[in-house]
Amino acid sequence: MEKYRGGVTIPAMSCIQFGKYYCGDGQEAVHLCDKRIPEGTECSIEINWASRFDNMCQHSGQHLISAIFERADFDASTTSWNLGEDKSFIELSRAVTDEEVQRVEDICNEAIRNRTRVTVELLKNKEDLRKGCKDLPKDFAGPIRVVNIDGIDQNMCCGTHVDNLTDLQMIKLLHQEKGKKGKGIVWFVCGERGDTLRFSRHKEGTRERVLRTLASSWSVSREACKKMSCKEEEIPERIENLQSSSKASLKTIKNLQSEYGSTLAEAIQMKLKAVNPDSNVQPDCKREREQLKNALREISLDGKILKYHCADLGPEFIVPLTDNLSQLVNKEGKIVFLSCGRQNSGNVSVLGDKNIIKEKGKKVLDVLDGKGFVKDGRIQGKVSQLKNLEQAYKLFETE
Ligand SMILES: [Zn+2]
Repeated sequence: MEKYRGGVTIPAMSCIQFGKYYCGDGQEAVHLCDKRIPEGTECSIEINWASRFDNMCQHSGQHLISAIFERADFDASTTSWNLGEDKSFIELSRAVTDEEVQRVEDICNEAIRNRTRVTVELLKNKEDLRKGCKDLPKDFAGPIRVVNIDGIDQNMCCGTHVDNLTDLQMIKLLHQEKGKKGKGIVWFVCGERGDTLRFSRHKEGTRERVLRTLASSWSVSREACKKMSCKEEEIPERIENLQSSSKASLKTIKNLQSEYGSTLAEAIQMKLKAVNPDSNVQPDCKREREQLKNALREISLDGKILKYHCADLGPEFIVPLTDNLSQLVNKEGKIVFLSCGRQNSGNVSVLGDKNIIKEKGKKVLDVLDGKGFVKDGRIQGKVSQLKNLEQAYKLFETE
């Protein structure tokens, strides 16, 4: 929707809206309307003050930021700028550093706190312009309109401006980006924000651009904190952790799918062999099953305890695996002792004779510094001293 900037009201006609304006060939600004108004018509003119004041603030803010960046100690001139719906940007002749942006922001806000005046002046002679101002055409005649920020800047401009920097309230330089051809783009917010239609202060919340930006960033970060149960300053670290754990999970899923695929293939071949013993098909292990073969090689079925530690997989793997090995406990009298985890923290799942487990359960969790339960011939828990696994095995070997 076109921003409502104001209009001309004529009795018996609907409102005629202002469009663009340009500087005429004299000293006058020419406004374009969307309908022809017959000469001599009586009418009333209305300006959308919210929109006008927003323009004045953002435009004056741009003058101030550009003037400071143009100083000899920064030496970055403004090549263009854009007034945005929520935030605006200035394009500079070179990329700037975070430290420079911070210094410029401090200087701008000091000028605002100092209640610096902004005045418009009509210069009669080109010679009265400060050095560094753009050149005027040779045949230029008539006064030159300049906008002065007291002690800071003098610039030719025919736009609308605030008359004191206090109207900007505060300038926040948000962040910078690299532009084309080595240019720098600095985003900023200041002053008040206009609206597309007549403004209702209470419905829309605050119209101060800096406060609006703060409020919206704060609500986004509060939402993120709630979702991740953390403090604001911990958000980046949490996201990093989530990214790396999701990467690890995807890798595990991929490996498991591959394992499952080849296990199923072997099961199909075995079923075929059972149905048709004369079949030439020989159930085989594929290359993807190296991991499984290695695991089987590691697990000894000779002793009283079946021990297996797997670094790559989690409790979702070892708990159901223990469940499915209950026959080893019931028919062979074994203790099934499975664990998983990298370095020192991980999980254990132990299955065995009810009396033995009842007697040793708490000791196992103590040795491994774990929390969990001992119940119905099973020990299950989260542990933080996996380096003591051998000691935990020994608790059953001395039986
Ligand atoms: Zn201006």
